This record gives sequence, structure tokens and C-alpha cells, in this order.
Amino acid sequence: MTIPALPVTPALARRLCGRPLMLLLDIDGTLSPIAPRPEYAIVPLDTQQVLAELAALPYASVVAISGRAADDARRVVGVDGIWIIGNHGFEIAPPNRPAETRPEVAPFAARIADAAARCSTIAQHTPGVVVEDKQWTVSVHYRLAHPSIVPALSNEIADVARDLGLRVTRGKEVLELRPPIDIDKGTAAAELAARLGALHAGASLLCAGDDRTDEDAFRALRAASPTSVTVHVGTDPAAFETDAEFYVLDTTAMRELLEVVLVLQRGGSPI
Ligand SMILES: [Mg+2]
Repeated sequence: MTIPALPVTPALARRLCGRPLMLLLDIDGTLSPIAPRPEYAIVPLDTQQVLAELAALPYASVVAISGRAADDARRVVGVDGIWIIGNHGFEIAPPNRPAETRPEVAPFAARIADAAARCSTIAQHTPGVVVEDKQWTVSVHYRLAHPSIVPALSNEIADVARDLGLRVTRGKEVLELRPPIDIDKGTAAAELAARLGALHAGASLLCAGDDRTDEDAFRALRAASPTSVTVHVGTDPAAFETDAEFYVLDTTAMRELLEVVLVLQRGGSPI
């Protein structure tokens, strides 16, 4: 599949200077470079700066959307005044407010805790596997493990999911266990976009992400608004089947795109 790389053409610029503006941005691999362990990830200072300036625009909403727990996502982004969608849509926090959990997931609390405990036991005998208990989902990272262990690990995680009636999804060097509820980045993104008026004619909506779960958001937003701008972040778009309309190479190029949006929204011309 061939998709065009940015930079921003005049036609694309017109799609990015509408109001209200909604920016829906994955964190790991999009705003922050991928780190060996999830707790090491940071959003660089210059990216934080442009996010803060965008969030301060009176008609703009900056939304960080992540598989991380909402509080952890807020910590990693490190910028006030932005929305947080955490745990792939199971949690949502308005700017500077505590996160609220979707009521549908509450009955799964004990099963997720059980899954986290079982995954931790698996990690103890599988070198390089890191388990992240996010209260409503569990991530099993194998970025630091030898690739040969992945098939056996996948089988063990699938067994846990089957025993507990949970779902498994796969991302970049991570397996995730989650409640079997049809909430994902796509449903959460489309709901919040509607709530913030970002699907109206004349509005602008930019969504960016680097991994499988972001594809749900790209599809949902492209279906909800033909002018929404969807961006896959990755060095090799030919090797990653994406439903995004555009791509940028890395988190630095992503920051540069956000800087262009800021200039456009202030009435300037970046071209
Ligand atoms: Mg990501």
C-alpha cells in the first residue's frame, strides 16, 4: 500500500486550519520514542512545549490516547490542559480532572487482577518479559526477551485469557489482556470527537499513532469525518498495513507536524 509522506501540502493545510481543532495523539512511538521498558518513556521537552501551546488555543483540544493507564499516560506526556484517554478507551479524563472509568469494565476488576498475577508468574520464568498491571488491562512486554520465546509466551497468555474470559490483542512486542468489551481507541476517539464538535464541517481533526490499536481510531475517524487527517508514525510504512491516509517517519517528524499545525492555527503559513 502506498501512502504519501508529509510535509504538508496546501490542500492538507486547509484541512488542518479549521476550528474547533482536535488533536488525538497516541503516546508511545508517536509523541515519545519507544523505550526498552514502558516506565523509561518520556515525551521530549520540545514536544511538550508545542503540545502545551496547542492546548492553550481557546478552540483546540489536545487528546492523548494510549494503552497506558490514564494516570500513567498523563505522567508520561507531562503537559497540563489536555484530555487523556487511557487503557485503550476504558478510562477518560477531561483536562486537569481525574480519570473516569467506563462502567462496563468495573465487573472485570478481579479477573484483570488475577490475570496480572498469573502473567507475573509467567514473567518470572521468562527472561526479558515485563508485565504492566494497568488495573483495567494487562500488558505483557517482550521487547527485551529473546524472539524464540514469543510463540510459547503467546500460548501461555492465550491460556490465561481463555481461563478468565478475557481478550488478547497484540501490539508492537506486547500482548495485552483486556475485558471482552467492544470499546477500543476507535470507539473512544469517535465518541470524544463528536462530543467536542470535531466532526462538524469546518472543524479540523488530526489523529496520529504507530501501532495496531491506533488503526481502530484511523478507521473510525475516517468513517465519521472525511476531512479528518490520519497519520501513521513509522519508519517503514510499506511493512505495516495501515489505514492512515499519511505517514511521518518518527516522533521528531511528528513534533514537526504539530509545529506546522500550530503555525496554521495561528494564521501563519508554514509552506
Ligand atoms: Mg504507540
